[in-house]
Amino acid sequence: MTSQPRRRILDWRQRRSWLASIRHYASGVLTAEVREHVRQARPDCWSDDMSWLPDHRWLVGEFCGRMADYYSHFKAFHGCRPVEMDSYLKDGLVGQNKDYIQRAFRLMFSEWPSEALARAIEQFDPSRPSEAGKVWLLGCDQELVNHCGHYLIQGSEYLMALAGAVGGFSAQRRLRDVGVPTIFEVDLPVSYVPAEQLMEIARNILSAWGQGVARRPLGFNSGSPCFVIRRTIPPEHIRGHRHPERIVDPHRGHVTYYNPHRSCPVCRDEPSR
Ligand SMILES: [Zn+2]
Repeated sequence: MTSQPRRRILDWRQRRSWLASIRHYASGVLTAEVREHVRQARPDCWSDDMSWLPDHRWLVGEFCGRMADYYSHFKAFHGCRPVEMDSYLKDGLVGQNKDYIQRAFRLMFSEWPSEALARAIEQFDPSRPSEAGKVWLLGCDQELVNHCGHYLIQGSEYLMALAGAVGGFSAQRRLRDVGVPTIFEVDLPVSYVPAEQLMEIARNILSAWGQGVARRPLGFNSGSPCFVIRRTIPPEHIRGHRHPERIVDPHRGHVTYYNPHRSCPVCRDEPSR
């Protein structure tokens, strides 16, 4: 009999759960002495300045390593406005692909002069290595809807830039007529997440832990983790998708955008979902 690989998912929305799990992997780091030190000193437990922890340089690194060993996945959400849902389920979440987006752009604005389209493409060349091949995800689906709704309402930022260059706001508005606003739920393997992003999550967990122990809440919670993944996320990591009804529209003064598409060919084929 083969044993199943362990599967432990850090879901940022389940704050009590990830706080309670700390003892399973980090009691050798957050020892009774460290806890007592924080309890008595009652420092401000910031996440961007960890000097409130004793021996913090060693401790934070060690904590981060143990966290990354303990969890197998992070729950993460990707917002987009796909035209072809099938390709996501077949190919997974593919990083920004300029050829694909430029093709879609030319098709969408086919009645415009081709020189104008070429000029727009030239103006916004995304081939700088900082952008190509990236997939953006967030640790909380509601935060995606409330703060990053433009990805669902108008699609990729690159496509928005191209449309804006060729015809301003009215051209960008056309992006609202194609595709279906979608949130993909992903179980993101920890091994996909770059070291500095793991460190950021570790610091936020430690900050939340410290505020509890010190009984000194800082009055705000850091946002959920933002994942920038420089590789394709294969379809087996996609756990599902949905099409939210209401989305905050950051491009129109944060009014509510009502999504007219509550299903797609994929959900329609799977009515039980
Ligand atoms: Zn669907």
